[in-house]
Amino acid sequence: MTERLYYTDSHLAEFEARVTSITERVSGWSAVQLDRTAFYPTGGGQPSDTGVLNGARVVECIDMEDEGVIHVVQGRNLKVGDAVKGYVDWPRRLDHIQQHTGQHILSQAFVNLFVAETRGVHMLEQYSEIDIALDNPTEEKVDAAVEFANRIIREDRRVRIRNVTKEEAANLPLRKESQREGELRLIEIEGFDLTPCGGTHARSSGEVGVIAVRSFERAKGMTRIEFVAGVRALADYNRTNRATRTIAAMFSAGRDEAADAVARLLEENKQLARRVRDMEEIATQVEAEEIWAEAKLINDDVKLCARVFDDRDPESLKRVALALIAHTKTVALLGSRGMDAARLVFARSADALGDMNALMREACEMIEGRGGGRADIAQGGGRKVEKLEEAIEAAKDNLT
Ligand SMILES: [Zn+2]
Repeated sequence: MTERLYYTDSHLAEFEARVTSITERVSGWSAVQLDRTAFYPTGGGQPSDTGVLNGARVVECIDMEDEGVIHVVQGRNLKVGDAVKGYVDWPRRLDHIQQHTGQHILSQAFVNLFVAETRGVHMLEQYSEIDIALDNPTEEKVDAAVEFANRIIREDRRVRIRNVTKEEAANLPLRKESQREGELRLIEIEGFDLTPCGGTHARSSGEVGVIAVRSFERAKGMTRIEFVAGVRALADYNRTNRATRTIAAMFSAGRDEAADAVARLLEENKQLARRVRDMEEIATQVEAEEIWAEAKLINDDVKLCARVFDDRDPESLKRVALALIAHTKTVALLGSRGMDAARLVFARSADALGDMNALMREACEMIEGRGGGRADIAQGGGRKVEKLEEAIEAAKDNLT
């Protein structure tokens, strides 16, 4: 059994204890148990503390419930019975205190304003998440809860630990029920929130500093809120500020004008894309007219337009083919020579003869690829680029 010092003082970062058991691990790590500890083990959605035990790194602490807390320690320098001095990494603990207490406040703010309970909590590397039972999340609702939570922080309300029996707890307005048996540890944010919890908390709400919501989304029938508190909120602000300023600088705009500048660029881009499409249409027409004018007649009255282009995408190749067969009595046999792939489009006008599907299948066999389509238009491709001209010649021969 380990005496859990963090239960009574979450601001205790240095302590003395005695080693009660050690299990050596092959990898050079030891699992160390102490008679008392200030290290918070992983649990309740909160990651474990890290720190130092007699100069050795504590990389994680694991909660073994009734069997106590296991400290995963680098090296094998400790012995059972040793008196040790422990140091908890304080910036990490303070960060956890701020995120975790911030979560109590934000959760209760959503309950107060929208009767939206918190169903899940995850503290991650850069931000935390809560899943709340809020059906129609809007920017306004989330803003209202954040504003409320920050007012509670500014009011610097006392945070107290109350140990009560299960019976006493039954008559108290707890935010959530506890599955635990026996005595319950309640965390009270004066006049605002009362909930059973075994985590580490601020002394007063002001210690949380500030709460900001990064984003929210509907997930698994609930609303997932991504938030940051305290020192993390400042780090998050700095990152966001830097990113936004970088974007703004690309437009020679002020930081707060960045979003408008991007929106304008996207609109311009949309218009340009439309113009490019129009120009391509015109260019394709002109190109097709030239090809058609130069094409030879076969079988007395059918224009056979055969051409190999360099690196044309399938869409562009098809556009040329369609422009060609807009003429009557026309067959188009078009190919594109890419770096490591050849493409083909065969097409004919309704009044010309020939099975484009059959021709395409034969051609694709020659260029070691695949293709097909209908009797009047077919597409394909293959990897044997050097056989492309030959494949088109074969299709030509087949038609004459
Ligand atoms: Zn808590």
